[in-house]
Amino acid sequence: MDYDYDLFVIGAGSGGVRASRIASGFGAKVAVAEEFRVGGTCVIRGCVPKKLLVYASHFGEDFESARGYGWDVGESSFSWETLIARKDVEIDRLNGLYIKNLEAAGVEIINGRATVEGPNSVRVGDNVITAKTILVATGGWPTLPDVPGIEYAITSNEALHLDSLPESIVVVGGGYIAVEFAGIFNGMGSRVTQLYRSEQILRGFDDEIRARLHDEMIKKGIDLRTHVNITSITKTGDGLRLTLTDGSELTTKAVMYATGRAPNTRDLGLHEAGVACDEKGAIIVDAYSKTNVDNIYAVGDVTDRVALTPVAIKEGHAFALTVFGDTPTSPEHDAIPTAVFSQPPIGTVGCSESEARATYGEIEVYTSDFKPMKHTLGGSDERAFTKLIVDKATDRVVGAHMLGLDAAEIIQGIGIAVKAGLTKAQFDQTVAVHPSSAEEFVLMRNPRS
Ligand code: FAD
Ligand code: NDP
Repeated sequence: MDYDYDLFVIGAGSGGVRASRIASGFGAKVAVAEEFRVGGTCVIRGCVPKKLLVYASHFGEDFESARGYGWDVGESSFSWETLIARKDVEIDRLNGLYIKNLEAAGVEIINGRATVEGPNSVRVGDNVITAKTILVATGGWPTLPDVPGIEYAITSNEALHLDSLPESIVVVGGGYIAVEFAGIFNGMGSRVTQLYRSEQILRGFDDEIRARLHDEMIKKGIDLRTHVNITSITKTGDGLRLTLTDGSELTTKAVMYATGRAPNTRDLGLHEAGVACDEKGAIIVDAYSKTNVDNIYAVGDVTDRVALTPVAIKEGHAFALTVFGDTPTSPEHDAIPTAVFSQPPIGTVGCSESEARATYGEIEVYTSDFKPMKHTLGGSDERAFTKLIVDKATDRVVGAHMLGLDAAEIIQGIGIAVKAGLTKAQFDQTVAVHPSSAEEFVLMRNPRS
């Protein structure tokens, strides 16, 4: 049978764009449908704008630090409006670049919302289009709990476009987005309260890293409260009043929920096409990203495996190699390095201490707690912390964690070593880069336990 396309991709985000370009490179006729803007969450309202705001929010501290180094820093002021406008110019540039690259790769971009009609057909508006293979790469969307007054809350989507910097903001949640945005608003000068419903922020991360970030955030002035949640939100004359589970009240100018994201599968026609999803709505796929329907595949956040851009890209690439490149490739999901752009940032790869104990039994833990050199003259009391976890039986480093300046940059290199399965002895044989914070990873000699 003749199809309109060899591959029809729904969603031009991280996973969809990579899959489209690689499949096209193998000679496939490819179309990608996008209902909003090419680039997806990461480029338009995720990693990129977020990181620009993280940079922006750090300058207040940097100016202070500069004084310690002999700089006479004049009076400074910050314009949220300028930042947002400049950020938007950069996002437009990247959006244009993504479009250009797709076109250059021979991929047809179809603007509009696509839904699955059957194993080989999709609908965009009034058009029904056929394809030999369909790839669903529709990403995720913020979820908000059912709290009275939730309509007054914003999510990260709106936080990136506020007309003005709120004088005060309450951030709800303890995941990546909540800690990153609490740091952003705090650095910009907003009064920030962060509310987390459970014991400690960043569930799943190494416990020591979590506790130390908590302390550092408090030191920087964030009112971070645990075991508490919002029971209602009401609008007042000049802001919002929140009632909390501990019986207290808070007044604030804005409230931002960062309480997780759900796969974008609603009304996508998947059920009708027979594609199986789990109870959260995530598309169930095998190791090659194939659904239970032979020629429908899914990659990225919509599959709820590991919701990170480089993972979506890897899955998209592996899909294209498998289906169009004659090279069955399964994206590996072990030893994924990741960073939380909190202040200070976290870099992490491999097992947390508790996971390693459960998996390997006997382990050795090496830690170092220090003041980064930059802060000696700079005057900040921010500490850094590095941690290595070693499987005692094999001497293999199975986890590496860092909280502190440049942790995101440092963990990328350490991630290669952990992924390669290097031993603690090999870390020890590596010559240190001095003076740096990264050198701690090859200098920790005495196991703690
Ligand atoms: P997306 O990038 O979400 O792309 C899906 C695309 O599909 C979207 O463009 C959407 O408009 C489109 N779409 C949806 N439904 C349809 C339809 N029916 N028809 C047509 N188009 C449709 N990850 C990191 O690795 N590092 C970070 O620093 C980081 N920061 C983040 C910060 C924030 C605030 C957020 C929200 C996320 C962040 N992430 C980060 C996560 C990262 O953005 C996602 O993991 C990644 O974008 C997932 O890519 P994807 O291809 O699965 O989906
Ligand atoms: P997460 O799932 O990471 O965190 C959600 C947080 O909200 C958790 O702390 C959770 O608490 C809490 N929560 C859930 N439901 C409620 C509720 N009803 N009331 C109060 N709190 C609630 O989601 P995020 O939205 O932070 O981010 C989504 C994903 O995007 C991340 O997991 C990550 O994969 C990706 N991302 C990556 C970034 C990076 O690489 N730097 C940056 C931003 C996002 P509990 O722990 O108790 O369940």
